[in-house]
Formats: sequence, C-alpha cells, structure tokens
Amino acid sequence: MTYTVPKLKDFSANALRKATDDARFAFKDEDREVSSEAEWKLFRDRWLARKNGILTQINEMWLKAAPKEAKREVGQRVNELKQFIDGEFARNHDWVVAADKLASGLQPVDITLPGIQRPIGAEHPIIKTMNDMVAVFRNLGYSVEEGPVIETDYYNFESLNFPPNHPARDMQDTLFIANQESKPLRERLLLRTHTSPVQIRTMEKMKPPLRIVIPGKVHRNDPPDASHSPMFHQIEGLAVDTNITFGDLKGTLDHAMKAFFGSSVKTSFRPSFFPFTEPSAEMLVSCFICGGSGLRGSQGCRTCKLSGWIEILGCGMVDPNVFEFVKHNGYDPRKVSGFAFGMGPDRIALLKYGVDDLQLFFQNDVRFLRQFA
Ligand SMILES: [Zn+2]
Repeated sequence: MTYTVPKLKDFSANALRKATDDARFAFKDEDREVSSEAEWKLFRDRWLARKNGILTQINEMWLKAAPKEAKREVGQRVNELKQFIDGEFARNHDWVVAADKLASGLQPVDITLPGIQRPIGAEHPIIKTMNDMVAVFRNLGYSVEEGPVIETDYYNFESLNFPPNHPARDMQDTLFIANQESKPLRERLLLRTHTSPVQIRTMEKMKPPLRIVIPGKVHRNDPPDASHSPMFHQIEGLAVDTNITFGDLKGTLDHAMKAFFGSSVKTSFRPSFFPFTEPSAEMLVSCFICGGSGLRGSQGCRTCKLSGWIEILGCGMVDPNVFEFVKHNGYDPRKVSGFAFGMGPDRIALLKYGVDDLQLFFQNDVRFLRQFA
C-alpha cells in the first residue's frame, strides 16, 4: 500500500512517535522494492522533492499545523526523520547503481568468484615432430629460417637448377596462381612445392658460412588419400662453408637420426637424383619399430614392409649450378661447398605414432588429437 502523509490531530509525544515510525516503516518498505536506478530516482523524488515530496508534505502538514506549544517537539521528530531518510539515500545509492549495472549486463567485477579456467592445449603431432627435429639441428648450431608459401617460379624452380622445360618439373604437380600468363615465366606465382626456395632466399641475404634448418608448409596437386595431401610439411637443411664434404653430410645426418629416433638406429645411403644436388642420395634408417629385424614376434613388420629399413630423407651436395645464382654474395662454387637435405615430418609422425591415415592429422578431430596431448 502506498504511503500518504496523514493529517495529525493529536500532537502528543506518543502520537508523534507513532506517526514518524509509520513514515519510517513505509520508507523502508518502498526502499526494498527498488531494483533499478530508474526506480531509485522515482523513489528519491517521491520522498525528497521540494514541491510535494513526502518530507515537504510532513513539514507542511505536521510542523506548520502544530499548535505553538507542540512545535518544538514536532520540529525535533520531523528533523530526526529527515536525517534518517537523507542518510538512507546517501547509503543505498551505490548499491542501487551496482544492481542496475548487474541487471543491464555491465557486471561489476566480483573478485570472490572463481576465475575462468582455460584448458591448456597440446602441440599437434606434426608440429611436435617438426619442433623436435628442428631442436636436434639447433643443438648442432643451425639457425631456423622461414620463407613465403606463395613463391615465384624463379625461387621455386629456376634458381634451384630446374630450367624451364626441365623434365624434373614434371615430378612436381605444381599449383599455380591463376591469370599469370601475361608475366614472364620466372615471375609467375605458385604455391611452393618444397621449402628449398628458402635456401636461395637465405643465401641472398647471408654470406657463408651458413647452417640453416627450414621447417614449413608446402603444396602439390596430390589428391588426398592415406599417404598424400595437397598440403603437407617439409623440414629442409643447408650447410655451406669451405671444404664441406659428403663425410660431413653423413656424419651430421647420422647424428641427427640417432638424436631423434634413439642411439641404436643405423643409417644407410643409396644413390638418388635431385636437380639441386650432385651427387644426391636417399637416406634410410634402420626400422625403429622392429629394431631392423623386419619382424615383430612371428609376424612381419608392417612399418618397414619386412625390410628392416625406412626411407627417411633426401640429401646431397649442393649443385655448383645453384651457387651460381648467389655467386655475387660470396657463394663462389670454386671456393665454397655444402650439403642439403629434406624430409617429410608428416610421414615421420605417421611412422612414429603408428597412425595409418595421413588425413587424420588434418581433419583436426579433437578426439584424435587429444591422444597425443
Ligand atoms: Zn620394421
């Protein structure tokens, strides 16, 4: 029920106490109903407004109407009530503002609530494989270099000793950027088919000696299946100095494979061909699943297809023709030599974790990925 100021007929002390108590209780009842700042303003105006506010009415109807002998007593009581109400308004304003913000979504910070917990993620198995392999070479003093995924024909092919119409270009199904026909061949853009362009880019900006490892994403026009993907990863390495020999290549890679797969693995090399290395080789490691026996119990080892060996990377001595493209920066092929190698961390991750479908790595199903966390 809404409070209205009663007319006083009796100005005795008891009647005054009852009248001021009624006003006080009415004030408290109304105060409890307030739930927003807008309501609070209406409530305040109802009680405090100079014109027709409840306190003004009390002043008019009680104090001014009081007989002369009761004026002092009435004045004291009304003053107490006024002080109480002023005090209440001063005290509860902040609460009302906070409640109002709460209701409108602008929540004040409550430092007593528990914090928001964010689960800690884990490295993707391919990223982990790349990081682990890069760490092996960092420990050998190699620095990490990266380059653009969208490359020019010059860096992806020409400067790596694949001249136009070289048959080796057929080995790579390249994804070209559309509408480049008006440009000269060497400026046409493509998605890099290997991380090797970064070798040339780095040799252009850094003089020998050089030891770099290059992790990155590459693309080829391979339809996705259990062992192929149009997007995959490579880790490539390059060392250039005076008097680098094939013995340095073998020693470095043998050490790296032992550091990565365990000290018991053996390495083996067999001849191969790459346009940018001469001579070129494929390196095999003894199977880290069956220990090189080709057998698991009485069964044949599927990982190495019973051979005891797994082909893991391609490598070779940098072809002098490649150095010709960066000769101006100190890479005179008569003075420097070097070796390069490249491997596929996706395939290494498949072998290492015993996964039989490459697509599982790229579908990003959390139930699959969680197993590697
Ligand atoms: Zn095996």
